[in-house]
Amino acid sequence: MTLLDKLTSERRARLAAERLLQFRMREIEALKDELSHAQRLLNTRSLELRDASVVASRTAALEDESQRVRSDLEAANQTALMAERRLWDSINTIRDGFAVFNSRQELVVANQSFLRVFSGIAEVQPGISYGRLAELLACEGRVVLGDTRPEDWIEMMRARWMQEKIPAQEISLADGGMVRLMDRRARGGDIVTLARDITESARHAAELEEARLRAEAANRAKSAFLANMSHEIRTPMNGVVGMAELLCDTGLNEDQRLCAETIRSSGEALLGIINDVLDFSKIEADRLALQPEPFDLERCIHEVLILLQSGVRGRAVDLILDYDLFLPTRFMADPGRMRQVMTNLVGNAVKFTEKGHVLIRVTGVERAGGHELHVTVEDTGIGIAPDNQDKIFAEFSQVDDQANRKFEGTGLGLAITRRLIEMMGGQIWVESELGRGSCFGFSLTLPLAEEGPALTAEPIRLNRILVVDDHLVNRTILERQLEAQGLQVKSCALGSDALAAVARTVCGAEPGFDLIITDHEMPGMSGLDLAVRLRAQGTTTPIVLFTSNPAAAQGHPGLAEMRAILQKPLLRRELLRQLHEIGTTGQAGPAPERAANEPAGPVAEASDDDERRMRILAAEDNRTNRLVLSRMMAGLDVELSFAEDGEQAVEAFQKHRPDLIFMDISMPRMDGREATRAIRQLPGGAQIPIVALTAHAMEGDGEEIIASGLDHYLTKPIRKPLLVEAILRYRPEDTRPPVRNALAAE
Ligand code: ADP
Repeated sequence: MTLLDKLTSERRARLAAERLLQFRMREIEALKDELSHAQRLLNTRSLELRDASVVASRTAALEDESQRVRSDLEAANQTALMAERRLWDSINTIRDGFAVFNSRQELVVANQSFLRVFSGIAEVQPGISYGRLAELLACEGRVVLGDTRPEDWIEMMRARWMQEKIPAQEISLADGGMVRLMDRRARGGDIVTLARDITESARHAAELEEARLRAEAANRAKSAFLANMSHEIRTPMNGVVGMAELLCDTGLNEDQRLCAETIRSSGEALLGIINDVLDFSKIEADRLALQPEPFDLERCIHEVLILLQSGVRGRAVDLILDYDLFLPTRFMADPGRMRQVMTNLVGNAVKFTEKGHVLIRVTGVERAGGHELHVTVEDTGIGIAPDNQDKIFAEFSQVDDQANRKFEGTGLGLAITRRLIEMMGGQIWVESELGRGSCFGFSLTLPLAEEGPALTAEPIRLNRILVVDDHLVNRTILERQLEAQGLQVKSCALGSDALAAVARTVCGAEPGFDLIITDHEMPGMSGLDLAVRLRAQGTTTPIVLFTSNPAAAQGHPGLAEMRAILQKPLLRRELLRQLHEIGTTGQAGPAPERAANEPAGPVAEASDDDERRMRILAAEDNRTNRLVLSRMMAGLDVELSFAEDGEQAVEAFQKHRPDLIFMDISMPRMDGREATRAIRQLPGGAQIPIVALTAHAMEGDGEEIIASGLDHYLTKPIRKPLLVEAILRYRPEDTRPPVRNALAAE
């Protein structure tokens, strides 16, 4: 072989090897591709395999869970069933009926109590309508309808369901039970009905009503008993107090006077207690009604002061009224009850004050409903310890200490006063300092009543007035009252200062006085002594004496120097009237509305003998009372005749033609009311004033008496000042004044 051949064969071999290599390379590449494809496939597979195992585990978990849920659901179902069963067991055990209706008013479900009413009626099943149930109740006699017709009742039951808010309905069942239907609209138009069993509470209510009626009957019996007792006690008390009063006016030695005074004051105290207890029981029984009418508050307080004045005699206590000058005096309220309130407060103040003053102050401001009044009663007495101030307004409460023990009382006065003030819509309070005094006050809104005649029509024709009073409060009030009328006032505390003041006018150092008003009892020189000294100095200025005890002025030479004697406390209206009279005539005027124990001015003493005496007829069956009446009127210039029963009164009226009749109410044969009716029918009988004398003191008695045709009434025991007041009130103008002078009327 040649080299070339060798080379060629080697080249061929090399080429073949190269081709083989290439082929192998390609195979390798293809295998690589296959391998990477297989690798990818493997990856995918492994991923798929991984996912499959997750899914498998998930599926297992889900299976577990659904198993758990199934068993939970089972348990919940069991619980729900149990709860439902329990709920229904409970709903079935309650005595009240329970039912649910759907929006078509068909029964969905009802408990046994609800269904019991329909027992035995097969058609009462879920699905039955409300209207049909109502029909069944009425037509099957399951409810008591009374006078209502079944169709009306069914209609009423249907109609109530038509209302937006279904009203409750009480139903009496035929078995004696009682239910109260209460229906509420629920979601989706459902109506839930509750039939409350009210059998027990209805029975209770009926029992309570019966008990209330029984209690009211007992209360009426108690009130009637009280009225009777009060009547029975008052009648003999009339004899006791009246006769003791008259006995005191006769010539008695000291021992006898003491006895007579004791009988009188004990009798009065007993009467006070009877009145308190009676009032209190009336308030307790809600039987006390207020009778508002127009009245003069200032006059009312003034009258209380006049009556209580005698209680302070012998003690250095001044009773003072400070009524706001710009406050109206006429209001609407129950005058009797206002008087009672004032009597209690002022009476206590007087009782517990040894020296100093009792000052009643009345102020007020205008409010929508009238005037808000503020009344205070201030004293300089024993006072009340702070601990006791709350207690005293309670019933039967008295301060129990050494200083208080000597005073009488029931401890009811303030309790009654508080209740009365509260009934009038007001409030009461107390401020006090032990040993220094007390101030009781109340505030109250009262409507205004129409005003009486104006205080003074014309100005007072006086310029300068000298006021002499040792008491600062009195002096200040008088000063203010006079200055409000445009007068100039100079005031002195002592008689000696007054003498000096007048002397200064004489020498021309000061303008002269037109009038001197002096207090009576003053330290150093009394008002009467002052008058004597002034006259001795040659002073002719008119002098007016202000006194709380005109009797004490008797026999004093100074009395003759007085232009007028005015009793304190003096009504503002009366003071101005007197000043007006003095200003125009130089004389004090007569006092037509004077209280019986006020002094009459000098003019009142003048009487015209041509005038006839006033004729008074008194009808009274009780001999003692006739005696009391005749003794009480003995000092009066009147013609008095008596009748012993109603029939005699009618006869006497025709025969004597009296100007005034006092008429007892309880009399044999014909009582006072019948006699009054008979007299009213007779000629002239319609106008004759008839005043009842009654021992009845219960609420309504007075109105009933007035309703029987009487003009006025006085409660026994008859008090002389009130009797005289009634006579003065009804005295015809053409008759002589029955009271010749002030002191005769005392
Ligand atoms: P009584 O009938 O006992 O006076 P009240 O209810 O009117 O009954 O008064 C109760 C008590 O309040 C009195 O007993 C007294 O202790 C006390 N009291 C009332 N007013 C006053 C007063 N102005 N000063 C001192 N104490 C008073």
